[in-house]
Amino acid sequence: MGEPEVAVRVRNLRKTFPLTRSLLGRTLRAVRAVDGVDLEVEAGTTLGLVGESGSGKTTVGQLMARLIEPDDGTIEVGGRDVTRVRGSALTELRTRLQFIFQDPYGALDPTKTVGHAVAEPLLIHGRVARAGMDEAAARLLERVTLDPGFVERYPDELSGGQRQRVCIARALALGPDVLVADEPTSALDLSTRSEILNLLLDIQEDSGQAVVLVSHDFATVRHLAHRIAVMYVGRVVEEGDAAEIAEEPLHPYTRALLSAVPVPNPDVQRARRRIELHGDLPDPAAPPSGCRFRSRCPVVMPECATTDPPLVRVGARRRVACLRYPAATSPSDVVEPPGAGTQIVTAPVRR
Ligand code: ADP
Ligand code: MG
Repeated sequence: MGEPEVAVRVRNLRKTFPLTRSLLGRTLRAVRAVDGVDLEVEAGTTLGLVGESGSGKTTVGQLMARLIEPDDGTIEVGGRDVTRVRGSALTELRTRLQFIFQDPYGALDPTKTVGHAVAEPLLIHGRVARAGMDEAAARLLERVTLDPGFVERYPDELSGGQRQRVCIARALALGPDVLVADEPTSALDLSTRSEILNLLLDIQEDSGQAVVLVSHDFATVRHLAHRIAVMYVGRVVEEGDAAEIAEEPLHPYTRALLSAVPVPNPDVQRARRRIELHGDLPDPAAPPSGCRFRSRCPVVMPECATTDPPLVRVGARRRVACLRYPAATSPSDVVEPPGAGTQIVTAPVRR
């Protein structure tokens, strides 16, 4: 067997958004939304991108899908550099990589039927004639378990969950290799969230796309993703197999996020302690020196103020950006495990 096929790879990705400009148009202050991100998504797998709101997840997803332009870095899809593609090459990229938006209400044109919305990509790419749109749309609706009769309906006749299914059907129309789903359930009722997530899982198992699932909710991602990347203020701070991260998170930020996720076993749950993070996410226009997590880290050390920890391989399939984990150590080699004898603030988990 060869190397696993990489569906999407980004290297050293950077994106800033100007906040204020001088009269001469020079940027005076800028948010470093994505500040040097390296990630890979293997074909046929789901990468969960997690982190608090404002950590840069949506920006990474939009950069991957070439919806916005990076300031620096490269994006490869299916082994091909698509960082600067334009025109027909960008049109071709759209057939291979699709983005599913957070808000299915804003994503659909209220004046067009569901049939039109779903089959429009096929029409644009010349794969179906106008007269064949409803039939093509009906088949796609079946894939997202919607009644094919919905082709005649308008978006405002649909529930939020039905709309998001329509958006997913539309994203599937061209048979993409990669789906980037940005918090695809956060605008929906609690009761429909798991239906939509399970639908994405089924589609992936049937069709074998790579999926990038962006979510602020660790519990969601833990169950659906094969690999997880945790973001904090524009950087990936930990990345690895979902099950390994859930079982033994290494970065203090990942540990804190996971400590807030309830576990099903009540005995385990009772024994757990919640690690509370104090303070807000730092201003991404002016992150702390050294490690940007240090202002909230329960196990901070003096050198964290001066050394910016690189994301290094720790163990076989994990990467961590924390000075407590020097490169090439295995997690069990860490001399002073994070949390041991330090000022972790504990509080009973709310039930
Ligand atoms: P997440 O999806 O993790 O919540 P985002 O990628 O949306 O994070 O945002 C990362 C940072 O970039 C935030 O500080 C956000 O305010 C800022 N940001 C995102 N988009 C823009 C924009 N278009 N203009 C200015 N700032 C932006
Ligand atoms: Mg977002």
